[in-house]
Amino acid sequence: MTEHNAPGTDDGTTPRFRAALAAVPAYKAGRPPAVAEGIPAYKLSSNENPYPPLPSVHKVVADAVGEINRYPDPANAELAETLAERFGVPASHIVVGNGSVTVAQQLVNATAGEGDEVVFAWRSFEAYPMLVLLAGATPVMVPLLADESHDLDAMAAAITERTRLVFVCNPNNPTGTVIHRAELERFLDRVPRHVVVVLDEAYREFIRDERVPDGVELYRERPNVVVLRTFSKAYGLAGLRVGFAIAHEAAADELRKTGMPFAVNRLAQVAAIASVGAEAELLERVEALVRERTRVLETLIGQGWTVFDSQANFVWLRLGERTGEFAAMCEAAGVTVRPFEGEGCRITIGETEANTIFLEQAARFMEK
Ligand SMILES: *Cc1c(COP(=O)(O)O)cnc(C)c1O
Repeated sequence: MTEHNAPGTDDGTTPRFRAALAAVPAYKAGRPPAVAEGIPAYKLSSNENPYPPLPSVHKVVADAVGEINRYPDPANAELAETLAERFGVPASHIVVGNGSVTVAQQLVNATAGEGDEVVFAWRSFEAYPMLVLLAGATPVMVPLLADESHDLDAMAAAITERTRLVFVCNPNNPTGTVIHRAELERFLDRVPRHVVVVLDEAYREFIRDERVPDGVELYRERPNVVVLRTFSKAYGLAGLRVGFAIAHEAAADELRKTGMPFAVNRLAQVAAIASVGAEAELLERVEALVRERTRVLETLIGQGWTVFDSQANFVWLRLGERTGEFAAMCEAAGVTVRPFEGEGCRITIGETEANTIFLEQAARFMEK
C-alpha cells in the first residue's frame, strides 16, 4: 500500500494517517426523500421499515429516557437472555452490537489484519469492503452470477492460505437473491474449519422460500459459522442501532473483545427486548410487506422487466448505464431509490402509495 500522503508531499507539516485509509471509500447512505412542492416524498433508498414503532415499543423507550443519566448494561445481559431463549441457544452464544454492521466490523477485527484476506460476493452489502480495508486486510470480491446470486463455487475457489473470513449475504443486498440449503451446505463443507463464515441474515424475516436454510440451524454443528441478525429491518428499529451475532462460545468470546464497552445504548436494549416480546405483531407487518413485494415483482414482470425473485424487503433492477436516469425519474415523482451507478437501482418495499408511484415510473420507463 502507498503512503497516505502522495509521495514527496509529506513534509511533516500535515497530520499523518494510516496508509490503509487511502483506499477506504466513504459510506454512501440512501438519500433522504427529495422534498418538492405539492407532492409527497417517500424514502425507498435504505431498506427501512415504513411502519412507525409499535405503541408498546414506543412506551418502553419513552420510559427508559428517564434513566439516560445512567450507563446501559455493558453486557447486554437481559437482551442476550431474551435472544437466547427466542433462538434456543445459550446466552453465551449471543453477541449484541451497535447495529449488525458494528458486529460485522467486530468479526473482521477479530479475524483479519494486514496481509489477511476476506472473501465476499460483489455486488453485495456496501459495508463489507470498507470494514475489511479499515482493518488493513484485503477484500477478495467474487462477482455475482448472471442471475444476480452468489457464485459459491468461485467463492470456495477464492479461499487461500490467507483467508480469515467469508461473508455470505442471504438474501443478498442489493439483489435480493437467496442461497438454498443444499448449495449452502455444500459450500460450508468446502470451507476449511479455521476460516470463519458469516451468514449475514439481515432480511431473514422476509424469506418465504422454504428452500432457504435458517442460519441458526446451520451454525449449531459448525463452530466456524456465525449468524448475523439485526433489529433494523423487520423489527423497525434502524434508528436505535442494535444487531447481534449467534456464534459458538470460542468465537463469541473473541468477538466480545473487539466491541466497545457500552456500545449498545439503554433505549436500544429495552426496545429490542420489547420487540422480541411483540414479535407476532411485528411479523404481521412483515407479512404485509411481503405481500407488497409480491405485488411489486408481479407488476414489474407484467411490464416486461427482467427481475429475479427477491426474498428481502427490496427489489433490484439492473439498469446499467440508465441507472442514474431511472433514479432521477423516480425522485422527480416523489420516491427516492438507491442507485448504484452503472449497475442498477435497489428499491425498498415501503408504503403502498410509494410502491405504486415507483411502479408507475417503472412502467413509464419501459415505454420510453
Ligand atoms: C441493513 C443491513 C445490515 C445491518 O444493519 P444494521 O442497521 O447495522 O443492523 C447488515 N447486513 C446487511 C446485508 C444489511 O443490508
